[in-house]
Amino acid sequence: MGEDWTNQWSGLRAADSREESRQEPRPESPQPRPESPRRHRREKEAGRPIGRRALIVGGAAAAVGGAVLGWDQMAQDGAMREGMARDMWKVPGMRKPRKEGEVDFTGAQWVAASSANWRMADRPADYTIDMVIIHVTQGSFDSAVKVFQNPAHGAAAHYIFRKDGHVAQMIRELDVAYHAGNREYNERSIGIEHEGFVDRPEDFTDEMYRASAQLTARLCARHKIPVDRKHIIGHIEVPEATHTDPGDGWDWDKYMRLVRAARSANA
Ligand SMILES: [Zn+2]
Repeated sequence: MGEDWTNQWSGLRAADSREESRQEPRPESPQPRPESPRRHRREKEAGRPIGRRALIVGGAAAAVGGAVLGWDQMAQDGAMREGMARDMWKVPGMRKPRKEGEVDFTGAQWVAASSANWRMADRPADYTIDMVIIHVTQGSFDSAVKVFQNPAHGAAAHYIFRKDGHVAQMIRELDVAYHAGNREYNERSIGIEHEGFVDRPEDFTDEMYRASAQLTARLCARHKIPVDRKHIIGHIEVPEATHTDPGDGWDWDKYMRLVRAARSANA
């Protein structure tokens, strides 16, 4: 197990640090964001839920060995602690079963984002989801879909709405999408993109507001997210955000009214 272990472990570390240093180029802005030391400090203080990092550090040999040897052999391996089997899927590379093409929002079209633009997780078991983050694509629906399928882009959101109200889901809600430009906010949120430009409020059609509000209401119900502007925020409101979307043209009063209405209709 020794050599395999070492290789895989360094692979995991590499993957992790790659993500830490990942810039998040997003469709709405060309500027890269500088890495923030403050952000990392805050993450350390946050007292994360049983992190995969802790899990890996606590039982790296058993965990990574499991990926190589399979569950049975690993279970026989005296090195494995009881509870670890339960949490094994939290280790990168260990998948919790999920169905291809399955969506979290009925009616959404499934289009998979490149796996380079999100990170596998099992929210809300590993991270609590308590936020919805609203974006505007600065381009068309089609170009946003395309860019989220591009592994070089390094960013993608869970959902994208088209002007006619059609929605594509590109990342499962249980996974962490790179959309907020802030690791902590990515881990705790669902990202929703809207076709259009921040300086063209006419892009934000009634159909789109309504359909998006339906989704946000569902997210709030499912994840017990309060329907308020502390928990339903714009990308620009993410700490250290370099992006300005959804912009002044986004009608927050209207959107929140629609979300509240949809939320109480579903309650
Ligand atoms: Zn954005």
